[in-house]
Parts: sequence; structure tokens; C-alpha cells
Amino acid sequence: MFRLKYTEIPGNPSKINREFIGNPTNEFTEMYERFTGFYAIKNLIADDELHRRPLKLKKDRICRFCKAKYSKEEKFKSKAHLLPELIGNKYLLSDFECDKCNSLFGKYENDLANFIGVSRAFNFSNAKAGGLKFKSPDKTFIVQKDYEAADDIAKLRIESHEQENNHFTLDAENKKVTFHTIRPSYNPNNVYKSFLKMGLSVLPDELVDDYEIAFAMLQSKRKNEESDNPLYKLNVYVHPGPAFPSPMIILFEKKEKTEMVPMHIVCIMFHNYTYQLTLPLNKTDKWMFDGIKTVTVPNIPPFIDKHFAEKFGMPKGHRLNFNLDELKRNEKHDVTFSFEDFTDTRLSE
Ligand SMILES: [Zn+2]
Repeated sequence: MFRLKYTEIPGNPSKINREFIGNPTNEFTEMYERFTGFYAIKNLIADDELHRRPLKLKKDRICRFCKAKYSKEEKFKSKAHLLPELIGNKYLLSDFECDKCNSLFGKYENDLANFIGVSRAFNFSNAKAGGLKFKSPDKTFIVQKDYEAADDIAKLRIESHEQENNHFTLDAENKKVTFHTIRPSYNPNNVYKSFLKMGLSVLPDELVDDYEIAFAMLQSKRKNEESDNPLYKLNVYVHPGPAFPSPMIILFEKKEKTEMVPMHIVCIMFHNYTYQLTLPLNKTDKWMFDGIKTVTVPNIPPFIDKHFAEKFGMPKGHRLNFNLDELKRNEKHDVTFSFEDFTDTRLSE
């Protein structure tokens, strides 16, 4: 993984400059150079000590998403998380999300949880602390912390019932095992909205007004009905090896306002995933959308260091389409792990 370097900005002690330190893998060097040619880090939120900040008093709060102010009817009672707990956020709370919006976003997050599916249960923190059990929709594949292991020992118990389900493929030679499972039903467009909500949460206050359309999309009951809108397509990388220690979201801003690329791109990193989201339709980008100019969206590279990739394997990228606004059922979901050793304990006949 890349490390972040923090430097003070001369003459502006209240702000710090952040940049990535790391070497991209050869495969992604060109993409890295192109992306960092267009974009620089504008803001970053991460669930670590450096990024936790005190919250505003409830009586001073205004909801960023619906503009509700603290009042008798809206008391900001709920403990709103700045990033979803289900992606590993423990401590970062929000002081700009009202109770009504919190409950709406909670619905979107149920779809996100189902989309992430078994990966959450396979995560190291669950192997260690437990608390989460994955059961496939047909209840024949179960992943949970091994209840015989001590609390602080990371050990999972994986149950596969009914052999004809072929829940896993063992590749002993290459020391890999792939689990084949099914995602619980989810609404792709709600998954998109969960990511969009994360992206709009990383905006500094002064940029919120530039995204009226994006905030409206987040609240809308129906998405716009274009069948092939590139907005709803997200790039994702999956990297082998250890997961990101805690979730992190980075807001990238274009360096030159005259470039024909979107103003902001958001990079969302959690578990073993890196998602790329384009914040839709910034007010100051309007000039680009005249029907003549071609706007391109540069791909973010995976911010996985070369040495890390050499040790654990290359990140793999693909594109996901979250356009569909109805339940997607029985979608196949494969998760591959490397292992060091295994013992075959089948009973001999
Ligand atoms: Zn609200």
C-alpha cells in the first residue's frame, strides 16, 4: 500500500498538504502518471487518530443532505457514521446528517451489505472479533468466527453443506482456494447511492453547493432512466494480501480547471477493495457538457505499492454497473484466497 506524506503549507499553518508515497507496479505506472497529472488530493477522511475530529454541538447542526436545521422536530438524535460501519468504520461520526437522512441512508447500506456479501465475514476483523455471520441465501454455506477459538485469535469456521453445491475449488498446486457463493439480493442503484453518500461526505463545506444535482440524486426515489449512463459504472480493484487497516476515502480535485475531466474523483478504500466514483455534475464543470466536447474520466490506479504487489500478487481491476433500480437476485460471487498450507482430514474408508 502507498503511504501518505503530510507536509505543512508555508504561510498556512491551519492546512496540511497530503501526497502519496509509493511506487506503482509496472502494469499501472502509466495510469498512475496520467491520473496524478490531472488530479491532486483535495481532502481525505480515514478512521484513524489523525482524522478524528470533534463534532459540532447538536444545536448548531445543519444536515448537509436535506438542509434540515436542529429544531424541535429534528434533533439529530441518531449516531450517524461518516462512513458506514459495515466497511469497517468504528469511530468516525458525522455532525451533518439528520435522523431522517440517516434512516434513508441506512436502507441504501442494507443493499451495500448484501452486495459486499461474504467478503465482510471473511474480513480479518471478523475472524478476530466475530459478530458477523454470513449465510448464503439457500443457507448451505456459512462463514463465521470459529466459536471454539479464543476471542483474540483470528480463526474462521466455514461450513459447506450438501456437496452438490460445489462451494469451493481447491487448487493445491498454486495454493489457492476459491469459494463460490451467492450474494443476498440487492438493489444495485442503492449500492451506487451508498457510494455516492460516502463521496459527498468527504466534500469540504465550501464545495457542497457545487453539487446540487448529486445531492438531489441521493434523495430521489427513482434514478434517471437512461439505460447506459456511465455515471453508474464504477471501477473497482481487488488486491490480494492483507486488507487496508481501516477505511479511507480520498477526494481528488483536478489541478487545472480548464481540463476536460470531471472536477472531483473519489477513491474509496476498504477491506481489499478500491472503488472509483466520479462525483456527478459539478456546477463549475457545466461548460464541458455542451454536447460537442468530449469529457474523459481518467482511471485511478490502485494505490498498492510495488513491493506489496510483488509479495502478495497483483491487484485486478474490473468495472461494475449499478444502473439497475430493482432487486438483483442470486448473483454469483467468487472469492479467492491464497494459503500457505493445508491438512486433509477426510476420514479414510
Ligand atoms: Zn437530512
